Amino acid sequence: MAKDPGRVLIFDTTLRDGEQSPGASLNLEEKLAIAQQLARLGVDVIEAGFPFASQGDFAAVQRIAQQVGGDEGPIICGLARASRADIKACADAVAPAPRRRIHTFIATSDIHLEHKLRKSRAEVLAIVPEMVAYARSLVDDVEFSCEDAARSDPEFLYEVIEAAIAAGAGTINIPDTVGFTTPSEFGALIAGIDCHVPNMNEAVISVHGHNDLGLAVANFLEAVKCGARQFECTINGIGERAGNAALEELVMALYVRRRYFNPFFGREPESPTPLTAVRTEEITKTSRLVSNLTGMVVQPNKAIVGSNAFAHESGIHQDGVLKNRLTYEIVDARTVGLSDNRISLGKLSGRSAVRARLEELGYDLTREDLDEAFARFKDLADRKRDITDRDLEAIVSEQVQQSEARFQLRLVQVSCGSSLRPTATVILAQEDGQEQTAAAVGTGPVDAVCRALNALAGEPNELIEFSVKSVTEGIDAMGEVTIRLRRDGQLFSGHSADTDVVVAAAQAFVNALNRLVEGCGRQSLHPQHDAVLADLRPGI
Ligand SMILES: [Zn+2]
Repeated sequence: MAKDPGRVLIFDTTLRDGEQSPGASLNLEEKLAIAQQLARLGVDVIEAGFPFASQGDFAAVQRIAQQVGGDEGPIICGLARASRADIKACADAVAPAPRRRIHTFIATSDIHLEHKLRKSRAEVLAIVPEMVAYARSLVDDVEFSCEDAARSDPEFLYEVIEAAIAAGAGTINIPDTVGFTTPSEFGALIAGIDCHVPNMNEAVISVHGHNDLGLAVANFLEAVKCGARQFECTINGIGERAGNAALEELVMALYVRRRYFNPFFGREPESPTPLTAVRTEEITKTSRLVSNLTGMVVQPNKAIVGSNAFAHESGIHQDGVLKNRLTYEIVDARTVGLSDNRISLGKLSGRSAVRARLEELGYDLTREDLDEAFARFKDLADRKRDITDRDLEAIVSEQVQQSEARFQLRLVQVSCGSSLRPTATVILAQEDGQEQTAAAVGTGPVDAVCRALNALAGEPNELIEFSVKSVTEGIDAMGEVTIRLRRDGQLFSGHSADTDVVVAAAQAFVNALNRLVEGCGRQSLHPQHDAVLADLRPGI
């Protein structure tokens, strides 16, 4: 990709690093839905997964390459360690995309060399050009990452980067893998690379960073001032541990402060153009989709996408905003796609009105999916007077979650009250369509439902989180339930919304069970490497 100083490329890794958040694992349909939305958002690169890790990861990257990659669409990228088997699997997975990239990496810090790789600097320096050249023999676009770069000796980094570029890497990524660096320190590292690597003008400098100290976005913004031109980020900042730098915060910082960040400002007669190609109006929708599908709830005070991000509580602020928005607002909520467009649909709305609204919201459904969404809409309209965009989004995102599911909830019925022992009856259908019924008594209605479902599913698990929040305001609002289950130290989340919270809880529990059976059944592509795969997940 050509280097353009007036452009910061957005490399989204929600489906790779983001999916490594505990409990956030996604099925193939969910990954595809997110990738399609990322394409609408206008990201430059989608890192779709780690193809060597498992058959499921490989299949997901391949499907995204087939269906989301296009001549005009985003570059589809896969991650690979610096080994031939990894790189070959990655090349095969991204092959269907006309614009494809292999992202390969190896650690460069002494602490990783000594304790993890058990290799000398000279050995690493020999591996890098060999593996980059091998990747280049399979695809034209290769990115190379120096894992734990922020803790690496800069002098050694310069040598490694020079070798990687000479072997054909077009993008050099500098990760702060452990979230350790600070803005001025990281900026100095990037500036040093830009000036000391002799062939640096032939490749784009990228940054990747974690939020362990809450500094990821600040570090990236300083890096841009020092020459970085690609951000590796995730929607809602999800990812390993404290997460990655949040895409929406980076994009909006570059947008709101475009005069400050655009290197041409002052030299161009016109007003500076935003540095990214992201369609900011798609940000809110993308955030909700990722939150709904991963079960990772966005905190209310989260910048840009939190539910309070545009709410003014102070009387003085409210008064100011009413007189002139600019007194206390730096971003117009509509810029990120947040509209007050409520009460769009109701009981009398027809199928075409629902389809039109869903299309406006970015959901391009097949005929069968639309039929199902419309049936659910009608069902909801019987119970709730006004159906908002949020309600529609809840309906559709749940539909995506349930495709290809092993268990389907057919019925849930509870009796409870101050003088009754909470009792639940559930009917669950298995993959073969066979229905089974069970009843159970619990400490409360939700507990009774979970017990009955567990009795039928026969999949051991431990319920570790149960949370409810309302989708919209009002007594007839839908309740959103998020459930997390644990098995063998792994987390699986399920999410659902309904006007009846017990029904939402039952469906969320079934969604989590479906992920659990799918996740535990993940098969390795290369069984002989299973021991290696166990510690493969950390990535960069
Ligand atoms: Zn990472």
